[in-house]
Amino acid sequence: MKVVPSDLEIAQAHKMIPITEIAARIGLGEDDIDLYGKYKAKINLDVLRKFNDRPLGKLIDVTAITPTPLGEGKTVTTIGLTQGLGKIGKKVITTLRQPSMGPVFGIKGGAAGGGYAQVVPMEDINIHFTGDIHAVEAANNLLAAMIDTSILLGNPLNIDPMTVMWNRVLDTNDRALRDIVIGLGGKENGYPRQTGFDMAVASEVMAILALAENLHDLRRRLGRIIVAYTYDGKPVTAEDLKAAGAMTVIMKEALKPNLVQTLEGQACIMHAGPFANIAHGNNSVLADKIALRLADYVVTESGFGSDLGMEKFMNIKCRQSGLRPSCVVITCTIRALKMHGGLGNVVAGKPLPEELTRENLPALEKGCANLAHHIKVASYFGVPVVVSINRFTPDTDAEVALVRQKALEAGALGAYPITVWADGGAGAVELAEAVVAACEKPSDFRLLYPDNLNIKEKIEILATKVYNADGVVYEPLAERKIKQFEELGLGHLPICMAKTHLSISHDPAMKGLPKNYLFPIRDIRASVGAGFLYPLAGAMRTMPGLGSKPAAHQVDIDEYGRTIGLF
Ligand code: ADP
Ligand code: MG
Repeated sequence: MKVVPSDLEIAQAHKMIPITEIAARIGLGEDDIDLYGKYKAKINLDVLRKFNDRPLGKLIDVTAITPTPLGEGKTVTTIGLTQGLGKIGKKVITTLRQPSMGPVFGIKGGAAGGGYAQVVPMEDINIHFTGDIHAVEAANNLLAAMIDTSILLGNPLNIDPMTVMWNRVLDTNDRALRDIVIGLGGKENGYPRQTGFDMAVASEVMAILALAENLHDLRRRLGRIIVAYTYDGKPVTAEDLKAAGAMTVIMKEALKPNLVQTLEGQACIMHAGPFANIAHGNNSVLADKIALRLADYVVTESGFGSDLGMEKFMNIKCRQSGLRPSCVVITCTIRALKMHGGLGNVVAGKPLPEELTRENLPALEKGCANLAHHIKVASYFGVPVVVSINRFTPDTDAEVALVRQKALEAGALGAYPITVWADGGAGAVELAEAVVAACEKPSDFRLLYPDNLNIKEKIEILATKVYNADGVVYEPLAERKIKQFEELGLGHLPICMAKTHLSISHDPAMKGLPKNYLFPIRDIRASVGAGFLYPLAGAMRTMPGLGSKPAAHQVDIDEYGRTIGLF
């Protein structure tokens, strides 16, 4: 394979098309967009009404096997497949989540694709973009300030300060803020109490932004957020605190999806970026709904593996919004499958273990059990499944052939190697054709569980069918809160499991296809505005820290004032 320059070098060398032209290509005029400079725009929500009578395009969801900590290339595949569909003459839009600055300056780097499968302007997208995450922060933190003020100034809502669960948020990896005491400095500054910061993208406000159908739905959802309980155990909401109106006004511009472009000139609607563990890990409903009126094919990405982002795409996003996918694409890499077959210990920020870069068919075959399970999980939803093998330089033809065979045996319609990182859309023509064919197959979409099962029944379906466990064990705290949520009338909400992405199970060390184990639930929390309950299986980091060599060390400006070191 050829030498591929860095993501930033490719992005900076690329001559972008003015965003008005990208808009025109998908049928949007100047009145339909608000320009944010020459290469970014926001799409006015009126377009949904304007194009309401257009037929809907086909929605394709890109997910993955259980990844290594490096990521197996879902974003690259999503963008590359979009470019591939463009190459074969299809009208296509990709809808993606917006990257968060925490990971950009931490370990992961940028999240706008890679190689010749990227969306641009890369620097802007990764840093600030159009300010939506700042709006999430501001709305979240206004509510936090209103809670503490209400408690200090007479506590008219009878809030028990010990029950306040609304954290402040920030878009920086700052572990020093995980556990803090606020209200120090005397009577004027409030009651001292312990609280903490989460990442902005882990907030319920971000999940709400991603699920809201329109401005009034946003307003209602923000109002439903439960922030604390009264001394007699009743929920206190953002509506009770009279915060929801102001939060909505802060979020008004952020609710409009953002328009950018791929390296090959297809439109990308990039909007919202909820975490895929404690939140649902999918871009906004509005982005998908708009894209489906403007293109014949819409390619979207769900976070992490099919056990997290894709399951939540189906059971939360599609359930709430009525969106229906026509095809699921499962991304896999040969390196990750060999890891699932028992080789190497992949650590973020360290070079790939050598044994993962050498041909090893027995380990690969063993690791394919992980792929087969993800194919099974995707098939529960009644949608055709296609596997994409994201090729890396060391992969051999024999390895690719083995993965193809195993994918077919497990029930995928087909499995296709792609080289979009090195070749752009030309590297995904075969996959694009297979996806088009899959979208024509009859699909019989179904959810994994109905609303009216109780909380434990829903958790048990997920544990046994998706996480391959024999059953569930609940800690006393979880038992108590499940009972409380049922009593509060929240039992009808879908489940958004907070668990590791590094295993099908709750334990990141259990690779391949974990079996013969019980799935443990420690706690359960409610995001009533977003419209889900999130049980916690294991400790979840909602505020990452930086390492001793964070990506931020590399980022700088050169003598011409251009950004360098972003990747
Ligand atoms: P995910 O969305 O699954 O987390 P990404 O698409 O963001 O993964 O890819 C993770 C990283 O791996 C990115 O830096 C990307 O540029 C790189 N990458 C992806 N595919 C390839 C490939 N085939 N060859 C080399 N690097 C790749
Ligand atoms: Mg991604």
